Amino acid sequence: MDLKKLMADLEAKNPSQPLYLQAAKEVLETIVDFVNENPQYDKYAIVERILEPERIVKFKVTWVDDKGQIQVNRGFRVQHNMAIGPYKGGLRFHKSVTEDTMKFLAFEQTFKNSLTTLPMGGGKGGSDFDQTGKSEGEVMRFCQAFMTELQKYIGAETDVPAGDIGVGAREIGFMYGQYKRIRGEHVGVLTGKGLEWGGSLIRPEATGFGAVYFLEGMLKENKDGIKGKRVALSGFGNVAWGAALKLEELGAKVVAISGPDGYILDEDGITGDKIAYMNDLNVTRNNVVAPFAKKYPSAKFFAGKKSWEVKVDVAIPCAIQNELDEKDAKTLIANGVKYVVEASNMGCTAEAVTALQKAKVGFAPGKAANAGGVATSGLEMSQNSMKLSWSAKEVDEKLNAIMTSIHDNCVKHGKGKDGYINYVKGANIAGFIKVADAMIAQGIAY
Ligand code: GLU
Repeated sequence: MDLKKLMADLEAKNPSQPLYLQAAKEVLETIVDFVNENPQYDKYAIVERILEPERIVKFKVTWVDDKGQIQVNRGFRVQHNMAIGPYKGGLRFHKSVTEDTMKFLAFEQTFKNSLTTLPMGGGKGGSDFDQTGKSEGEVMRFCQAFMTELQKYIGAETDVPAGDIGVGAREIGFMYGQYKRIRGEHVGVLTGKGLEWGGSLIRPEATGFGAVYFLEGMLKENKDGIKGKRVALSGFGNVAWGAALKLEELGAKVVAISGPDGYILDEDGITGDKIAYMNDLNVTRNNVVAPFAKKYPSAKFFAGKKSWEVKVDVAIPCAIQNELDEKDAKTLIANGVKYVVEASNMGCTAEAVTALQKAKVGFAPGKAANAGGVATSGLEMSQNSMKLSWSAKEVDEKLNAIMTSIHDNCVKHGKGKDGYINYVKGANIAGFIKVADAMIAQGIAY
């Protein structure tokens, strides 16, 4: 595999897609040696084939707002790779969504889903719909219009969407209702469903829980423990919420968390009802975290700043891509950070990752560390197929086992001669092998 040529071709083919190029470059740079040591992958042009999504569906979403005005949004579904199972991945509703965002996320999802050990291919979808300030009726009408088009392309055995930024239980409910209305079937076509109608226990907490289980694996590898570790988060969504719950349970201390308008510092720790209040604030819908400091006197609000300036042992970005840049990474390093765990997808810029790895900070990429969400979606699919529900304990144990296996697989393929674990390399190689071998076995199909 000729890395330079592949990258040049990719840049020429995708000139206005910097996020997709960033995600692809990271994978190519870390798998190149492995691919060159295993000539079957070049023989079957696996890398060239994996770089091209199997299908991109782009559609118009027209809906009527509360004032009676007609609104037009864009909808997407990228069906990236189906080699190991039905396309699987979330739907993101956020003003920043473009075809580039969808392509990078679907590409990442293929590797992530492969790592989970479950049979799920990679996909991603969403819309540039911004729900800030929208009424519940407007969100419902948007979701119904979106699903009216999306339902043509998905199915319980072909493509199973779920939530992501801007899509939680409420939106999944509205979309599921519309799918059911049009198709007349009650099947596991979406995950993240309500418990009464096919959802799984632990799914809302799963991404955050999984990231903390992954962190535990990293700590164990260094003969270190989680108790008493100071942690900074970002995000205020269900990922940060799940992480905060698990961190508290295991004895770590979350001292800072940031949102769109600034960050909260609370030296007493963000625990108990403060974690519940994170959900009540509904930051995805309202865009502000400042009220947190008004409610809790121990909390201080720093307008327009990120929580990465606080002295912590562990930083867990839980918001959006490229939310932690090189400057943030250098500040964290100067303050003695030991672990950075991406709970968001590609939460760190490429420069930030390089700086962290150079400083030998333990760095876990999102496709490994945040795989707990989609893994639990996979467990929801299993329960739907069996028409049975597992207890919270059963799901949590399975999630923990999956995260441990992902961690160990990253170590297997990412441990260097000096003992430093390159989790990015480990995750990319481990994720690649399963998809690549399945593609070879299935002949020249995609
Ligand atoms: N959006 C989540 C992710 O980035 C979950 C996807 C899913 O559950 O299908 O992995």
